Amino acid sequence: MSSDPAADLPFYYGSISRSDAEQHLKLAGMADGIFLLRQCLRSLGGYVLSVVWNLEFHHYPVDKQLNGTYCFTGGKPHCGPAELCEFYSKDADGLVCALKKPCLRSPDTVIRPGVFDSLRENMLREYVKQNWNLEGEAMEQAIISQAPQLEKLMATTAHEKMPWYHGKVTRQEGERRLYSGAQPDGKFLVRDRDESGSFALSMVYGKTVYHYQILQDKSGKYSMPEGTKFDTVWQLVQYLKMKADGLVTVLGEACVNGKNAEKTPSLPASRRTNGYTPPPQAVAAASMSVTTVPENRELLPMDCSGFNPYHNPNEVRRFNIQRSNLLIDEVELGSGNFGCVKKGVLKTESGQIDVAIKVLKNENEKLVREEMMREAEIMHQLCNPFIVRMLGLCNAENLMLVMEMASAGPLNKFLSSNKDTVTMEHIVNLMHQVSMGMKYLEEKNFVHRDLAARNILLVKQQFAKISDFGLSKALGADDNYYKSRTAGKWPLKWYAPECIHFRKFSSKSDVWSFGVTMWEAFTYGGRPYKKMKTTDVMRFIESGSRMECPTACPEQMYTLMKECWTYKHEERPDFKKVEESMRSYHYSISNKAKPEEAAATSEPIK
Ligand code: ADP
Ligand code: MG
Repeated sequence: MSSDPAADLPFYYGSISRSDAEQHLKLAGMADGIFLLRQCLRSLGGYVLSVVWNLEFHHYPVDKQLNGTYCFTGGKPHCGPAELCEFYSKDADGLVCALKKPCLRSPDTVIRPGVFDSLRENMLREYVKQNWNLEGEAMEQAIISQAPQLEKLMATTAHEKMPWYHGKVTRQEGERRLYSGAQPDGKFLVRDRDESGSFALSMVYGKTVYHYQILQDKSGKYSMPEGTKFDTVWQLVQYLKMKADGLVTVLGEACVNGKNAEKTPSLPASRRTNGYTPPPQAVAAASMSVTTVPENRELLPMDCSGFNPYHNPNEVRRFNIQRSNLLIDEVELGSGNFGCVKKGVLKTESGQIDVAIKVLKNENEKLVREEMMREAEIMHQLCNPFIVRMLGLCNAENLMLVMEMASAGPLNKFLSSNKDTVTMEHIVNLMHQVSMGMKYLEEKNFVHRDLAARNILLVKQQFAKISDFGLSKALGADDNYYKSRTAGKWPLKWYAPECIHFRKFSSKSDVWSFGVTMWEAFTYGGRPYKKMKTTDVMRFIESGSRMECPTACPEQMYTLMKECWTYKHEERPDFKKVEESMRSYHYSISNKAKPEEAAATSEPIK
């Protein structure tokens, strides 16, 4: 998931042992200064540099600091493993010699994945599954969109779910639990030490219980005294299963906390926050695995209803909604070209769902109605957390399109009225979600044709959905609609050249619109091309000009915008690529430590 920054280095071998490294260097001839890089087994994200000098091997651990830099113990920090190796190829600066010649991986040698790579990923999956009761595609989408947030959350709370974690129990009670039943060497548990939030490890060896304090340094890393430091308690425990690191022996079987063990069995298939009220037995079952959202953390998309599909898999989805199941509020959420959008409630077999109802005006022609119904059928097939779901059509006093509710409103309005509080990271997170929704549309071969900030709706501050599609396509399919509209209603400023010149719409033209939407987002709801007339905009684009970088917009994001505005659609990136770029930027800024964290030393607290 979070890719290894050394993966592209031709002298990087991944998770190989010290003796394997020495074997490779031997085969490469043992010249002075020949070197390779491998993953460090002991520290997450760290490496070891193995160098030959005078027919001897030297192994230097490279630590990954909390602020994302890499350095040898006591050495200068570098922004990545490649930069570090480059630096030491020019200057030994404390090593036995400067790095002279990379020991290259043979073409058939693959980079060996590390223990933590799969452990961490499995742990993350298990964590998401347990906390939000998500499965399958919804789980994947949750993990991809919120990986940095999830990793942080997991670092502070993951141990709570582990069978070996016993919470607030005294030293005596810990001993009592370890002595009950069999007492094999290595049987262990972790408990809270006191109110300070620190932990203790208690383990059996030779029928005797030993207690160790788990240290936490100023930067929050956990370790045994003098031992290797880890970001999370569960990683430390995983490590201590492999290496004693100062303990009397390695950790063996977990002394199971009855309370945590009960939580682990397979979860009910029914969903938690679907907007409908689940049957009582589902509520009881789900509530066991659901953690209430602590006040000190921001809501994640998965905390909101609307992340999961609305339908109960056992319930047949109805495309046609009966009027009697629909309560329409007088409150208007917005009005559009074709009528107004009203608030409402949909009654289903399993409960009530808050909905938004687009009510078409009566004067709409038959043709328009038919087009819309055909498109509604396509829309009905789309199911992605980052796309507003249509729940059905209700053909009564008016033709009504019933959708899930996105109560925090359109993105452009949200941003323009929250300029002071919304951070750049927040915008990146939301735009990454939009790119995920668009990637899904692209995969489904569906063209939006009206992607713009006004058509991105927010469920919650941290949760965006693409809306208002299908309709614009349906109505514009034979071009009559666009010709019949006044120029101001045409989203021309969002359209790629081929849309304007040849009426050729594709996912690539949606990519162009995505670029404009990004520009809107990074200007906090600014108006693209300001007061320029649409004909001037066309000339502006033809001449090769593009909108400027919004104030305080990160360089990488502006680069992506400009890529979206590649004139020729053949050369423009697709959403697969756009999502990739959004994702890596989103991850990279969310992983950066705050300045004060970076300044903290990693000395253990005495
Ligand atoms: P139009 O095609 O006329 O632009 P939209 O689908 O964009 O219509 O809806 C118009 C307005 O109605 C939106 O700007 C928004 O304020 C509100 N709206 C539409 N759909 C929803 C929804 N699912 N949840 C909440 N508000 C909505
Ligand atoms: Mg709209």
